[in-house]
Amino acid sequence: MLYRSFYFLACQLLGGVIGWHFLGRHLGHDRGALVGLALSSVVWLAIDLIRAGRVLRWLRVGDVREAPQMHGVWGEATDRMRRLLRQSEQVSTDFERQLREFLAAIQASPNGVVLLNPTGHIEWCNQVAAEHFGLDLERDVHQQIGNLVRDPAFAAGYARAVPGARILMLGRTSTASRPVRLAVQMHPYGDGHRLLLSHDVTALEQAEAMRRDFVANVSHEIRTPLTVLSGFVETLQNFPLEEAERRRYLDHMAQQADRMQSLVQDLLTLSRIEGSPMPGSSDWISLRKLYAECTHEAQALSALLTAGKGKSHMLHFGPVPEGEISGVSSELQSAMSNLVGNAVRYTPAPGRIDVEWQTQADGRLAFSVQDTGPGIAAEHIPRITERFYRVDTSRSRETGGTGLGLAIVKHVLQRHGAELRIESTLGQGSRFAILFPANRLRLATSKEKAVLA
Ligand code: ADP
Repeated sequence: MLYRSFYFLACQLLGGVIGWHFLGRHLGHDRGALVGLALSSVVWLAIDLIRAGRVLRWLRVGDVREAPQMHGVWGEATDRMRRLLRQSEQVSTDFERQLREFLAAIQASPNGVVLLNPTGHIEWCNQVAAEHFGLDLERDVHQQIGNLVRDPAFAAGYARAVPGARILMLGRTSTASRPVRLAVQMHPYGDGHRLLLSHDVTALEQAEAMRRDFVANVSHEIRTPLTVLSGFVETLQNFPLEEAERRRYLDHMAQQADRMQSLVQDLLTLSRIEGSPMPGSSDWISLRKLYAECTHEAQALSALLTAGKGKSHMLHFGPVPEGEISGVSSELQSAMSNLVGNAVRYTPAPGRIDVEWQTQADGRLAFSVQDTGPGIAAEHIPRITERFYRVDTSRSRETGGTGLGLAIVKHVLQRHGAELRIESTLGQGSRFAILFPANRLRLATSKEKAVLA
C-alpha cells in the first residue's frame, strides 16, 4: 500500500509538473498545474478501473490457470486470490475423491443401502439396493420410497418407522420357484434423514429351515426304532413268554438297535465328510482292492436279503482296470458300496445287477451299477441325494436303509472331484454311475498290463 501511495503521489506530481510546464503558458502556471493534477488523477483512476475490471472478469470465471498477470496492489490481490482459489480447489478435489471412495465402498457392500431425506425421498442408493427393491438408479432418485416399494410388509414396517426394527419382505426378483427373502432395517441419522439397509437372507433362512428339517428327521428316525424297542422291553418285562417267542422278540430288538446304530454311523460319516477339507492326492488306493471289498459286501447283502426265499439276485461284476485312485479309501469304498448295496436292496430277486468299469474318452473312469429294479420316477431323481429323501420308504426301512446313503455318496464324490449320474426308467430299472476325474487316477498302460498279466 505504501508503494501504491508513493506511485499515486508521484503520478500526481508528474501530472502537476507537466500541466505547469505545458499548460502554464496558456492558463497560467497554477491553473496549468491544477489541470495536470486533475488529468493525472483521471488517468490513474481509468487505469485502476481497467485493472479492477480484469480481476473481476477473471473472478467471475474463477479459473486459477487464467489469472491475469499484473503488478502492484492488483497483482498481489490476484496472487492471493489465486492461492485461495487453488486451496479451495484442492479441498474440494480431496472432498470429491473421499466422497467417491466412500460411495464406491458402499457400492461394494453386499448389503443394499438407501439414503432417504426427511420426507422419505431417495437421495442415493447402491446397486444392491436397486436390485433388492427393483429401483432404477437414475429414474428413481428423488422419488418417494413408499411409492416405489409396494410390498405390504415393507409398507407396514416403513409406516411404523421403528429404528432398527427388522422388516422381512420378498425381494423384487422373487418368484414362486426362486423366492428371495430380504431383511430390511431403517436407522435415523442427521437431520431427520434415514438410512435403509437391506440384506438377502434367503440362504440363511433356507439353511435354518434345512437345520430344522434335519433335526425333525433325525428325531423321527430315532424315535421309530426306539418306540418299537421300548414296546418289546415292556412286553418282555410284563409277560411270561415262551422261549421261541422271547427269541423272536429279542431278534426284533436287535434289528431295531442295528437300525439305530446304522443311522448314528451314517450321521457321523456325513458330519465328518461335510466339515473336512478336500483329500489330498498323495494316498493311492488300488482299484482292485476297493472293488473286491465292494463285490464282497454286495454278495453278502444279497445272500442276507434273499436267504430262505429260494431266489437270488443275478450279480454280474465286470473286470476292474489295473490302476490306482487317490483319495480317502474308506469314503470311496462307502460310495461304491452304497450304489451296489442300493441296487441289491431295491431290486427284488431274481433281478439282475451289472457292475461295470469303463474308461471315458476324456480320461475319466466310470463305475456304473445297472439294476432291473423298480426304477425311479423322473421327478424324484433330482432329490434322491438329499438327506432322508426316500422314494420307497417301506423298502428302505425293511432293508436297513437310513435315507442317508446317497447323501453320503454325493458328498464323497464332491470331495473327490467326481460326478454322480443317475438314469432310471420307472418299472425297468436304474443306472447309477460314478465318474472319477482323470487327475485322481493312475491307470496302468497296456504295456504294464501285459507285464502284470
Ligand atoms: P436309503 O437308505 O433309503 O436307501 P439312499 O439315500 O441310499 O437311502 O437312497 C434314497 C432313495 O433313493 C431310496 O430311499 C430309494 O427310494 C431310492 N433309490 C436309491 N437307489 C435305488 C435303486 N437302485 N432303485 C430304486 N430306488 C432307489
